[in-house]
Amino acid sequence: MSITSVAIVGTGHASTVTARTLRRRGFDGAITLLGEESHAPYQRPPLSKEFLAGTADDASLALLTPKVIADNDITIRTGTRVEAIDPTTRTLSLVGGETLTADAVVLATGGRPRELPGFAVGSSPRVHYLRTFDDAVRLRDRLRAGSRLAVVGGGFIGLEIAATARGFGLDVTVVEAGRQILEPRLGAQIAGLCADLHRSNGVDLRCGVGVESVADGSSGLQLSLSDGTVLDVDDVVIGIGIEPSTELAVAAGLHVDNGIVVDTVGRTSQPGIYAVGDVAARYSEAAGRHVRVEHVDNANRQGSVVARAILGEEKPDDSAHWFWSDQYEFNIQFTGHHQGADDLVFRGSVDDREFSAFYLRDGHLTAAFAIDRGEDIMAAREMLGRPFDRAMLSDEDLDLWELGEEGVLA
Ligand code: FAD
Repeated sequence: MSITSVAIVGTGHASTVTARTLRRRGFDGAITLLGEESHAPYQRPPLSKEFLAGTADDASLALLTPKVIADNDITIRTGTRVEAIDPTTRTLSLVGGETLTADAVVLATGGRPRELPGFAVGSSPRVHYLRTFDDAVRLRDRLRAGSRLAVVGGGFIGLEIAATARGFGLDVTVVEAGRQILEPRLGAQIAGLCADLHRSNGVDLRCGVGVESVADGSSGLQLSLSDGTVLDVDDVVIGIGIEPSTELAVAAGLHVDNGIVVDTVGRTSQPGIYAVGDVAARYSEAAGRHVRVEHVDNANRQGSVVARAILGEEKPDDSAHWFWSDQYEFNIQFTGHHQGADDLVFRGSVDDREFSAFYLRDGHLTAAFAIDRGEDIMAAREMLGRPFDRAMLSDEDLDLWELGEEGVLA
């Protein structure tokens, strides 16, 4: 069937890259983006970083400039929730009763914050979750020097909020149920260095404790923790991950299992319907299983793959994971998978917080982490899966790109 119209549900990173790639690859049919939020497509990463800190304005968040929208002839309908999809006719039912039928439908619906029992979204002006522009504006209004903030969940978003709040002079406590912040993501040793970074910036890190209950009083919240202590705070941010927004797919009978299940190029179990970005559980040949990834780089890459698939080009992209985070004045980057690593090699100065760390398994590079050394991560990304000599990796006189090119050292 020749495709003359594509409807994309969602207006985030995955959606906009899919739309732009369709045009770049020569598609001249109608492209419609439907987003339930009232804002034009915007970037989420700054919401916990420079936008929350007040150093980036609304305009700088835009994902598409008016010129790009016009040049690419993309129709963007904000404030338009898609309520249902008829999977056989690919007809979308929109809020208000309107319908829209397209030759191809892309579900780029992202995710929503996982709720902590007792802290329902919207239950109190003192309880915050951070996923949307509106969430960030609400939270930013509460960041006042001297006020007390608890962050529940020591993942990247929670820690970015903690760092930003310290910048405003708040008294910040991070409550992490796991043994150490970030440990599942980075492994114990690097997670420990990240914990040091926060402690040395004045964050009170409480690991291995959960929140048992909360009392909302007139002067603040009282959080009762599992170790018997009580935290008195003005505000709490819950950052314990997201749930993929799969409700449309579930109702349409698509295969869903921790995300909308798709093949290597984003095709769902229903012909003509695709899924991409945080919501998609994509089959990865490299991993040998379905993976759901919550990073901008994944949303961008897979958006491009899905656009090509719609146009009949099968070009899977199984590139290694890569993500960044900004905390205090530091830029953090990571690539690969650290699980199973048996050795960690450092390059640069851990004391000055300007280093990279290479995770090896049986001498093979599986992952790399860096603080303020993004260039090392770019090089490492090309080196993953190959054997390297640990002394050479740590030798600052050797150029990593050259090492990567000259290669494989037994
Ligand atoms: P989203 O950006 O979530 O977009 C999905 C959109 O679909 C939403 O606007 C939603 O409202 C809409 N939608 C859902 N259901 C419907 C419906 N039925 N009808 C209409 N619209 C609907 N990643 C990094 O790599 N680095 C970072 O530093 C980083 N920082 C982050 C900081 C924050 C605060 C947050 C929240 C995320 C961060 N991320 C970061 C993750 C990154 O933003 C996500 O991976 C990315 O936004 C995923 O894009 P997406 O297009 O899949 O989904």
